[in-house]
Amino acid sequence: MLEIISRFFDKSQAQRDAGDPVIVSAQYHSLSPKMISRDARRVVDVLQDAGYEAYIVGGAVRDLLLGLKAKDFDVATNAKPAEVKSLFRRSRIIGRRFQIVHVQFSREIIEVTTFRSNETKSNDKRKNHRQQTDSGMLTRDNVFGSLNDDASRRDLSINAMYYDPGDNSIHDFAEGLDDIEKRVIRIMGDPATRFREDPVRMLRVVRFAAKLGFNIENRTGKPMHKLATDLEHVSPPRLFDETLKLFMSGQGLASFWLLNEYGLFERIVPQIGNMMKDRNSLTSKLVEQAFTNTDLRIRAEKRVTPAFIYAALLWPAVQKLAAHYRDRGNSPSYALSKASGEVIARQISITAIPRRFTMPMREIWDLQLLLPRRGGHRAKRLIEHPRFRAAYDFVLLREQAGEELSGLGDWWTAYQDASDEQREHMARSVGDPGKNRKRRNRRKPKPAAE
Ligand code: ATP
Ligand code: MG
Repeated sequence: MLEIISRFFDKSQAQRDAGDPVIVSAQYHSLSPKMISRDARRVVDVLQDAGYEAYIVGGAVRDLLLGLKAKDFDVATNAKPAEVKSLFRRSRIIGRRFQIVHVQFSREIIEVTTFRSNETKSNDKRKNHRQQTDSGMLTRDNVFGSLNDDASRRDLSINAMYYDPGDNSIHDFAEGLDDIEKRVIRIMGDPATRFREDPVRMLRVVRFAAKLGFNIENRTGKPMHKLATDLEHVSPPRLFDETLKLFMSGQGLASFWLLNEYGLFERIVPQIGNMMKDRNSLTSKLVEQAFTNTDLRIRAEKRVTPAFIYAALLWPAVQKLAAHYRDRGNSPSYALSKASGEVIARQISITAIPRRFTMPMREIWDLQLLLPRRGGHRAKRLIEHPRFRAAYDFVLLREQAGEELSGLGDWWTAYQDASDEQREHMARSVGDPGKNRKRRNRRKPKPAAE
């Protein structure tokens, strides 16, 4: 285990005013400039040579201190976006709510953020740059500030460390190094205020706790349950992105448990919220199994898609609603189609799942109805379906979660491994639950489309 901060470093000796950082110099910490990507170093060098302050900040500092690989490198500077842009030929300003500069290199993009301030001076010209809703949520955040200002508006203590590769020092504003050693997730400032300003911070608390295996500090976790409802103020596209980071991080199961513990999960997927109260229900098992399988796939470097995860999360709601429509006399396929459409419509008003994922979700669900009907020539056709593999994995998932499907998964596993001759034999000897109904349906007029 790395010694993150030398025990010989005595913070009480460090001269500083309130709000100033502890500056931890080279001999006392485990980072070195070599750990920083060449491109990120170059951005810092160019900015510093031009007379600006510039640091590596956020996730990279945190992860490198923990001995993990940095996902990407973010740079923070006192240069304004336009000034940054003028220093790098291949760069552009992006964002409105939060302007940043992307500097493009052949291998990576370095994100450069200008120091922001947390101040709200309602009577000066900054008013237009920082906007807040009645619930206290920030909708625009372009007030520039000093390094100290910038640090105080970051979310977690472990995300508020600034590394200067020039002199190899860490500027630690909120005792982030201590929290890294203690393995604690702590929000800076008053937790409730910070969560109201941006409810996504609650999801970030959970995400980093799950990803790093850290504990959530009591004070930080305390208001989360009550403020979970504030997630409804977050825009659906942003909330969708955040759910992907939670579900597809390789720590989906741990994230799910924490989301559940703090009442956040039922705000993200309310349609199955009620069905999850019982930890032993089929729904709870399906959801846990879906995350378990996703985590395993990520560890094995296999492909994962949001379509499969969302298909699993919403399946219990789809099944319930489809049963309701069947009870009212609709055909199974019509009931399923109507239920799928409605469940998706409700979900995208919370997390904006793009169409390129909702289409395959519907296909996976449709195939759940078709895969049991595998007699005659059907099996041969089904296996050619572009979504067969996902739908088959979905059958296995349902069975793993405890749903009784009369050996459907095993049958399809065997069918895929079988020779042509064996396949024909299998298709001939299978009972076909859909056969008679289909004939009957043919005579009836088709129900109207949705
Ligand atoms: P990773 O990129 O590994 O997911 P990260 O900490 O770098 O983790 P980013 O989303 O890239 O996360 O954000 C970079 C930094 O910006 C964070 O470390 C944090 O200091 C700050 N930050 C990001 N989102 C917020 C937020 N919602 N509120 C306050 N500060 C934030
Ligand atoms: Mg990052």
